[in-house]
Amino acid sequence: MSASEKELIRVEDLHKSFGSLQVLKGVTEHVNHGEVVSVIGPSGGGKSTFLRCLNLLETPTSGKIYFEGTDITDKNVDINLHRQKMGMVFQHFNVFNNLTVGKNVTLAPVLLGKKTQKEADEMMRELLSRVGLADKENQFPKKLSGGQKQRLAIVRALAMEPDVMLFDEPTSALDPEMVGEVLHVIKDLVKTGMTTVIVTHEMGFAREVSDRVFFMDGGVIAEKGTPDEVFNHPQNPRTQEFLSKVL
Ligand code: ADP
Ligand code: MG
Repeated sequence: MSASEKELIRVEDLHKSFGSLQVLKGVTEHVNHGEVVSVIGPSGGGKSTFLRCLNLLETPTSGKIYFEGTDITDKNVDINLHRQKMGMVFQHFNVFNNLTVGKNVTLAPVLLGKKTQKEADEMMRELLSRVGLADKENQFPKKLSGGQKQRLAIVRALAMEPDVMLFDEPTSALDPEMVGEVLHVIKDLVKTGMTTVIVTHEMGFAREVSDRVFFMDGGVIAEKGTPDEVFNHPQNPRTQEFLSKVL
């Protein structure tokens, strides 16, 4: 396989400003099929903006983003088609509170014509049982704990059968006793070979599951490498300083 065939996402010289605030200052990187990448770094460093640019929730100021070989920053590209292949889970549980748990999962695949209601229902039941929510199908999200809501948000994204999952601090808003159950679900997902990019403050988790770690600071990827390289032998003083505070 050539380098470009291995790449699911390629980012070239990505810049993003909000008004006069330069947030991303030239990011060139790639994510391979099946790869698990953790993005760590101090608050305000541009991690969320980077992740949101990958599926064009933010429009890059300049630079290119290739997804499965297509330049999705090209104005003529149907971004919705590509976005459907990128599941996103945010810090704050993005579930529909006015729909049952089951409908939360089946709504998009049925509306978008990916599945019949019957097919979607079967998949939904399988996904809910995978994350320990089999008995919640007919409940409304307000009855769920934070950890359960986040597991539902993950299932909702998976129901679209995405080619990559993007997580932005999926456990940061959870009570501590619920962090483990959500990390466990993500770990199981990673084991299935799902390509995953996860912004996280859970350093133990990042060390355990990642193929590569990006340390993002000041709008650039200031250091990257295997978990062993970044956590045990950081080269950049900024990485060293950050890790000394969080490890
Ligand atoms: P991180 O996720 O690493 O904490 P962010 O990407 O959220 O960093 O933010 C980086 C910088 O961009 C911060 O200074 C933040 O205030 C700013 N920023 C993020 N989103 C917006 C926005 N929509 N409008 C203006 N400024 C923003
Ligand atoms: Mg963030």
